[in-house]
Amino acid sequence: MNYYTNSIDEVIHYLSKLPTIGRKSATKMALKILEMDDEFVVNFAKSIINMKKNTHHCKICGNLTENEICNICSDEKRDKSTIAIVEDIFGIVSLEKTKIYRGMYHVLNGLVVPRDGITLDDLNVSSLISRIEKENVKEVIFAISQTIDGELTELYIIDLLKKFKDLKISKIANGIPIGRSVENYDELTFIRALEDRKEVEY
Ligand SMILES: [Zn+2]
Repeated sequence: MNYYTNSIDEVIHYLSKLPTIGRKSATKMALKILEMDDEFVVNFAKSIINMKKNTHHCKICGNLTENEICNICSDEKRDKSTIAIVEDIFGIVSLEKTKIYRGMYHVLNGLVVPRDGITLDDLNVSSLISRIEKENVKEVIFAISQTIDGELTELYIIDLLKKFKDLKISKIANGIPIGRSVENYDELTFIRALEDRKEVEY
């Protein structure tokens, strides 16, 4: 039986596609939106469309930006000889929180997940190789989640980096959560993880 109107059901359908939002929460949210004043709801809907229309990946590092090049890549004061490899924007937030990391980033926009058919070719990797070839990069730091998918992605990328004989490859200390749970940890945790990074033997 359909308890709600078709248009309420439609909003519930879309909201329940969001992470951690089940049908029950989606219903509460939809009914709350219905109570809000018209102007707020119109602006809310517009902000989602604007975000989608204006946000894209930085041409250099893959970070999210509204410009061609993101703020970090266009910051002349940053150390261009170090690149931290992260899986998504949460990885950038983790390292920016330390306030001591002044290098650049490269955002993979995902991890290799064989069971979902996601291979290295689906990730933002080829531009990483050309950055290392063209720019004077001395160190890359892996700062991606220490999950099976994360480790596998690391192994594949290290294999591609082997040809750069003078490149230092390191990874942040084990057991430190990088990624979506980043908001739950303080900056000291990330500073320690960064300072305790281990060089990868290859
Ligand atoms: Zn960038």
